[in-house]
Amino acid sequence: MYAPPGVKVDSEFPVPQTMKAWVLGSPGELSLREKPVPVPKKAEVLVRIDAVAICATDLEIIYHGPPASILGGMPFNKNFTPGHEYMGTVVALGPGVDEYAIGQRVTVEIHAGCGQCKRCREGMYTACHNYGLNYGDVDKGHRANGFTTDGGFCEYQVNNINTLVAIPSGMSDEEATLVVTAGTAMYGLTELGGLVAGESVVVTGPGPIGLLGVAVAKAMGAYPVILTGTRDNRLKIGRELGADHVINVRAEDAVAAVRRLNAGKGVDYVLECSGAPNAVNEAIRMVNRGGKVCLAAFPHEETPVDVAHIVRNNIYLYGIRGEGKSATHRAEAFMAQKRFDATRIHTHTFPLADLPTAIRYAKDRVDDAIKVVVKARGVSAAHKIAAE
Ligand SMILES: [Zn+2]
Ligand SMILES: [Zn+2]
Repeated sequence: MYAPPGVKVDSEFPVPQTMKAWVLGSPGELSLREKPVPVPKKAEVLVRIDAVAICATDLEIIYHGPPASILGGMPFNKNFTPGHEYMGTVVALGPGVDEYAIGQRVTVEIHAGCGQCKRCREGMYTACHNYGLNYGDVDKGHRANGFTTDGGFCEYQVNNINTLVAIPSGMSDEEATLVVTAGTAMYGLTELGGLVAGESVVVTGPGPIGLLGVAVAKAMGAYPVILTGTRDNRLKIGRELGADHVINVRAEDAVAAVRRLNAGKGVDYVLECSGAPNAVNEAIRMVNRGGKVCLAAFPHEETPVDVAHIVRNNIYLYGIRGEGKSATHRAEAFMAQKRFDATRIHTHTFPLADLPTAIRYAKDRVDDAIKVVVKARGVSAAHKIAAE
């Protein structure tokens, strides 16, 4: 049985020595292997993974590599397990841990910074200066599970206690996997200044972060909140999550439509979640003079930007990585109070053993998939669950 020295376990939550884990081979190749159950060190716990959501970034990593960095390079053929948007149950405590108890349900944020660099000390642990320096002779204590260390497409993982978020019993496993996505939207709005009550916000791109960006902006009191996108079914969900106006950019010019909705002035903030090639140039024309733009998605190609327009109009441009400054905790507080229903973006659940099918649904948007979740237990292999 699993009983590493210095680690606290409980017979009520027995832990095996080995577990099933998906491992990335060459690009796009995943295989189900047996791996040792990892051991928590100081300030870490072992989480039994109960549900894990597939993110567009997982697809990037599995098919292309970056932004994962394993042993300082590409993540292929290194026995690496991807997956980062997971939740579960604490089943073992590393030495000295008393902040969490065995049996407690938690969701996780991704980045455990080194805790000692300038940015970590400022709460910007997603921009840790020791990012990925956790291999060979170097151990800076940095972990970003699913990016620089093993992730969640498996049965157990170790997490620094700084990455854990306690969740209420009324929150389903599937909903809990969405806390980190809402946390990214919350971080974006935080970096824009945070006080968006009564101010106008455009969210561009109705992917998971954009849709929850609408929900979080509304919960923070923004008005009006305008969502732009190309697919009517996604825009409809945006409306259900609180968007005051939606604009289908295939049907009308997005910049003109935003300005029309704001008496020709443009909005105070844009949260850019589309990654579209011309997104920055459109966003800087959607905001009013002195407005702020947060970039939460990245285009594949380098794109020319109209810098003169930014300078002439005193526009602020922010890039965010992930979910810093404990934004995940603040997003969870909104969800625990049911200020919005994040499960509107959860569409499918598959067993962990069917991960390749789940990835296909997420990648090809089969059956209008948005957030696809896999679970190690409690889902029969015979049928997927289509939510609602
Ligand atoms: Zn993600
Ligand atoms: Zn750091």
